[in-house]
Amino acid sequence: MTHALIVGGGIGGLAAALALARAGCTAEVFERASAFREIGAGIQLGPNVFRMFDRLGIRAAVEAEAVRPEALVMRCAIGGHEVTRVPLGAGFEAHFGHPYAVIHRADLLAALHAACLATPGIRLQLSTDVAGLDGEAELLLADGRRVAGDLVIGADGLWSRIRAEIMGDGPPLVSGHIAYRGVLPMEAVPGHVSRREVVLWAGPKLHLVHYPLRRGRLMNLVAVFHSDHVEEGWDATGDTRLIEQHFADTRPEVRDMLSRIDAWKFWVLCDREPARGWTRGHATLLGDAAHPMLQYLAQGANMALEDAVCLADQLGLHADIPTALAAYENLRALRTARVQVMARVYGQFYHAAGLTAELRDAALGARDAKAAWTGMEWLYNPPPWPVR
Ligand SMILES: Cc1cc2nc3c(=O)[nH]c(=O)nc-3n(C[C@H](O)[C@H](O)[C@H](O)COP(=O)(O)OP(=O)(O)OC[C@H]3O[C@@H](n4cnc5c(N)ncnc54)[C@H](O)[C@@H]3O)c2cc1C
Repeated sequence: MTHALIVGGGIGGLAAALALARAGCTAEVFERASAFREIGAGIQLGPNVFRMFDRLGIRAAVEAEAVRPEALVMRCAIGGHEVTRVPLGAGFEAHFGHPYAVIHRADLLAALHAACLATPGIRLQLSTDVAGLDGEAELLLADGRRVAGDLVIGADGLWSRIRAEIMGDGPPLVSGHIAYRGVLPMEAVPGHVSRREVVLWAGPKLHLVHYPLRRGRLMNLVAVFHSDHVEEGWDATGDTRLIEQHFADTRPEVRDMLSRIDAWKFWVLCDREPARGWTRGHATLLGDAAHPMLQYLAQGANMALEDAVCLADQLGLHADIPTALAAYENLRALRTARVQVMARVYGQFYHAAGLTAELRDAALGARDAKAAWTGMEWLYNPPPWPVR
């Protein structure tokens, strides 16, 4: 039986363990944190990832916690006007065959974790820091132990050590964009704010996204602005004065929402140029380790889940592991590269000023619902990959 060693127990690592175990492999996950936890609050789920939830057998658990917003709405953060509205109701679901939803990251991770615990063949190891590869399918742990398997999956995120060994292409690229995130109890949200939509307020060099979480009990806020601040990690404490400065020219309703958060956390947003070469023999990468992207299409975790299922499918299809891993990378490379590139383009569009913002408003505002859905086909309705 094929035994996989998975570095990292985030969304990508746990999804990989589950997908592989459901395909008849055994999997051992090494997570350096002392608990399986997610930092940050909300995550958006496109119809593409619901297909993966079906394959992983966790759709019901996800749906029990997720909120289905009524629309994706873009508004101008300066003028206040609505730029575009994409309905997400029955018509959207009929078009794509699956819904759009938002969920608390902790709830998604909990669904994956519970499914891993209930699936034979998965071993989860906490507080286990992986120092690196030790041969093609062996790991060296930070405490000096060595572990051998049949393949290694580096699901160790943006600052991946396994990537450094396989690709050696240096640190990720700092985008110059910072995301501040906070959560409000719904009672603290001003009455005029939409509670059932994903709303993006777009302005020059900034935007604010908000959407409901936990059956509408919480409102998730992510405020992004341009800044040359650099800091590694995912959970630094934000400075409220910086938010006030950067959003000083935005609508009163935007500033009103922002002023109600007193404890911000922030991320320095990074990505990489798309590149092939994440596979070497019996070792490969998955999720942010393989193709980190800016969050402007809300697809990083969605892609990690697609990777996990695709990888398990290729292991079932090909007799030898290096061929299966090479096929997996080949099937995922253009898909994930497109999302990486388009996420940058969307970031520029969201943060546009002057004539570019006018162009954005004219182009997006001219679409009806059908045209908007058709424009999302490449992302939400990709062609299937080969399965045994
Ligand atoms: C502001 C923001 C909003 C976002 N919104 C969305 C969204 O709406 N939808 C979406 O799909 N995506 C979104 N994303 C992207 C998403 O968060 C990531 O793409 C996703 O979390 C990547 O998962 P992963 O498992 O690949 O990596 P990670 O979540 O980074 O997990 C890596 C794991 O590996 C562990 N690890 C690292 N090194 C080691 C080691 N040496 N030994 C052992 N363990 C190790 C870490 O502790 C961690 O648990 C957003 C990102 C940001 C910044």
